[in-house]
Amino acid sequence: MAESQKPERRMRPCPICSKLSTPDDYPFCSDRCAKIDLNRWFSEGYTIPVVETDDIDESNFPDEDRS
Ligand SMILES: [Zn+2]
Repeated sequence: MAESQKPERRMRPCPICSKLSTPDDYPFCSDRCAKIDLNRWFSEGYTIPVVETDDIDESNFPDEDRS
């Protein structure tokens, strides 16, 4: 049994809608789902948590800065 010699990949379910993926849009089932995944990625990547920095304090008075 040499099933591992098969050239074709085993189809995986689309991570977005769980349909069977297609070779064209692997690992998604369609271009739409690929874009949905991309959008999800982007929206998550761009969601940068706002970190309050202690570097910015009021020790620098604007009046003293401009002399
Ligand atoms: Zn899909």
